[in-house]
Amino acid sequence: MIVAALLLGVLAQTRVVMLGTGNPNADPDRSGPAVAVVVNGSAYLVDAGPGVVRRAALAARDDTIPALTPPNLKRVFITHLHSDHTTGLPDLILAPWTLERTVPLEVYGPPGTKRMVDLLEQAYSADIAIRLHGGEPANKTGYAANAHDVNAGVVYKDSNVTVTAFGVSHGKWEHAYGYVFKTADKKIVISGDTHPDESIVTACDGCDLLVHEVYSAEKFKLRTPAWRTYHAAYHTSTYELAALATRARPKLLVMYHQLYWGDSDAGLVAQVKSRYAGAVVSGRDLGVY
Ligand SMILES: [Zn+2]
Ligand SMILES: [Zn+2]
Repeated sequence: MIVAALLLGVLAQTRVVMLGTGNPNADPDRSGPAVAVVVNGSAYLVDAGPGVVRRAALAARDDTIPALTPPNLKRVFITHLHSDHTTGLPDLILAPWTLERTVPLEVYGPPGTKRMVDLLEQAYSADIAIRLHGGEPANKTGYAANAHDVNAGVVYKDSNVTVTAFGVSHGKWEHAYGYVFKTADKKIVISGDTHPDESIVTACDGCDLLVHEVYSAEKFKLRTPAWRTYHAAYHTSTYELAALATRARPKLLVMYHQLYWGDSDAGLVAQVKSRYAGAVVSGRDLGVY
């Protein structure tokens, strides 16, 4: 019995759920960027793009992934403070509270995260006061968020997972992170938004899953010069990703935060495959890996 329990622990299956694969484009099929790493019934979110709570609820529907029900959304790791990655944050702080989450949301992110969370609490102070003192049978503890401005390095550790932040180059952002999740059975790297960065190669180094942002190298050619300059400084093209993945050697590469500009998933995959021999898929919302 004890051996079986131990074995179960060792064999614990880590799952990665794409809650949102979108970007600032208001694509109704792609919620804002958010990824969930689910281990032993606990969920660890990366980013809080718009729609994050509803996508998590959809992933949890019919008891498929109970770790993603609203009361179980207890911690999030923010890659950087661009709005497409954070406008779901007030929703993630407040909605699960009204749905009986009793603990504060723990928010980890680059410098500036704590300021953003404090300002959000101020912005919603009237709502919080009414719910606490206006007759709603709300619990008195779940509305808060504990924000942690973290530096590169190990930022979180429990019995399920060790989470390490590493710096990536995202244009003029002084602080933008990718995250490594190390569990009993998997090593997962999530890029956040980044220009091709050697730190991804080092962080992955044969990892099980690399979730990486991307844009279409072919449609990029049709963008205006100003946008080409911007995207080249802030993001990663399919061809750049192919070169990077060749050296990072993930067992599976999942593209997200895709910028298509009229291209398709098949087009993105074909561009990467033309220069990369490994396994690659174009991620979709609610994809599980
Ligand atoms: Zn973004
Ligand atoms: Zn960004």
